[in-house]
Amino acid sequence: MKTQILIVGGGPVGLYLQYRFLRLGFDSLLIEQRNGISHHSKSIGIHPVILESFAKCPTGSGSIADRWIDAGIKIRKGIAFWNQNRIGEVRFDAQRRKFDAQQRRFDFILALPQWETERVLEDAVLELNPESMLRGVKAISMEPSMHWKNTGEVVVQVRTETGAGQQVEARLQVEAGQQVAAGQQAGARQQFKKYQQEGTRQQSGEHHAGDDQQADTKSARETQIEIRAQLVIACDGKHGATREWLGISKTGVRYPDTYIMGDFDDHTSFGTDAAVYLHRDGLVESFPLPGEKRRWVVKTDSFCEEQPELLLRSLLEERLQQDPGSQNADRVSAFRVQHEIAAEFGRGRVFLAGDSAHVVSPIGGQGMNLGWLGADCLISEMMALQGVSEEVLSEPWLATLLSRYEKKHRKIALQVGKRAEWNMRIGRRESHKPWVEAILKSALRYRKTNQLLADLFTMRGLGSWPV
Ligand SMILES: Cc1cc2nc3c(=O)[nH]c(=O)nc-3n(C[C@H](O)[C@H](O)[C@H](O)COP(=O)(O)OP(=O)(O)OC[C@H]3O[C@@H](n4cnc5c(N)ncnc54)[C@H](O)[C@@H]3O)c2cc1C
Repeated sequence: MKTQILIVGGGPVGLYLQYRFLRLGFDSLLIEQRNGISHHSKSIGIHPVILESFAKCPTGSGSIADRWIDAGIKIRKGIAFWNQNRIGEVRFDAQRRKFDAQQRRFDFILALPQWETERVLEDAVLELNPESMLRGVKAISMEPSMHWKNTGEVVVQVRTETGAGQQVEARLQVEAGQQVAAGQQAGARQQFKKYQQEGTRQQSGEHHAGDDQQADTKSARETQIEIRAQLVIACDGKHGATREWLGISKTGVRYPDTYIMGDFDDHTSFGTDAAVYLHRDGLVESFPLPGEKRRWVVKTDSFCEEQPELLLRSLLEERLQQDPGSQNADRVSAFRVQHEIAAEFGRGRVFLAGDSAHVVSPIGGQGMNLGWLGADCLISEMMALQGVSEEVLSEPWLATLLSRYEKKHRKIALQVGKRAEWNMRIGRRESHKPWVEAILKSALRYRKTNQLLADLFTMRGLGSWPV
């Protein structure tokens, strides 16, 4: 199977890149190992700078930003507490600000669960081309010798489940009519059929010499095929294997901080406001969610291995005398935090994007947004180069693209990592000092410093401000 661009990983970053490449007219294929969108609770915050950029992404029914806004909650204010005493609020809205029209339109942080965010993106991708995304297809290796050399393509081995195999088949049929020379097409289809038959044979229990080795790498329901691409973009997340296949190391810190979070029915009077408690025993954060739900994030003394819901409830009771309610408790999970960045953002014809390139602490809620900023950076550099040469996917243009993307985006990723760390540090016990309280109170009281805090939370000034 052949494609110009192969995106590995259909999380928020891979989906967005696929949408942009399709709109730009590239032959681009997205593979995702999962059969459906994960409902594991992760990101909820989409920042104004991102909404401004997604407002320029049309779909059949409004822009992507419009569709998110229809499903989400607009947070215009965050209330700050010291222990349980209210010390002020940070305003994200346009009140008393010199915002331009676009900034006024998006003067809020949008709260939307990550699976909803991804659903809208996936719909937008499938609307453009239903054959351009294959679920249940996992990259299992990349031809190592191909990354560096000017061979013109990377060979990616992928494994599919039987159901996904039919999708792959459909895609091959599309290629037969559109892109691939007849001879190559016949070869690819033959290979696909062969693997499919092998899968069926193993399923039926037949045993042949040489099968044992294959059985190690694929189960009876699976088939294996090869995808050849001029450019591979790995959006396979923080645990993705591509970085290791490329031999790229990562640097960073694993913080000692640990948290529990869960989504519950909203019994508070905060409405659409967020609330942050800088409590002597540890940070508590609370965010509105669609459907009259609320997310609680609570700092813990150590990683909670078992029954996180029980611990979350007892910590909320201890710190705030707050009962979070009983619904959605299945979404309670414990997590650790880290700030990691890949030593290189790609090699040869394989680039890294999103969490596979950088991971920032989720406290501050900027990791997914950062991934999209990186995707925007990559696309705009590509467009700039394409103006110079239509051969943007050939050497030496790809090398230039990678170095420009890396130079610009690494700076932003490091800055976001620092901001997220600052956010996290302020919620630690050792920061619970009277002088910290005094500084915070003043910062919240004065308009300029309040606006600066709002801008830092909403990812403004990246790349141009020193902090
Ligand atoms: C608790 C928590 C809260 C968070 N809150 C926020 C927030 O409020 N705001 C924010 O901006 N960020 C937040 N984040 C961070 C955010 O979730 C991540 O930054 C974001 O998911 C990264 O997107 P991604 O597309 O790069 O990777 P992922 O979302 O990890 O997606 C990677 C995809 O690749 C697929 N994949 C992996 N390997 C393969 C393979 N070999 N073949 C095919 N597919 C593969 C995976 O199945 C997955 O679907 C939070 C994170 C956590 C843990």
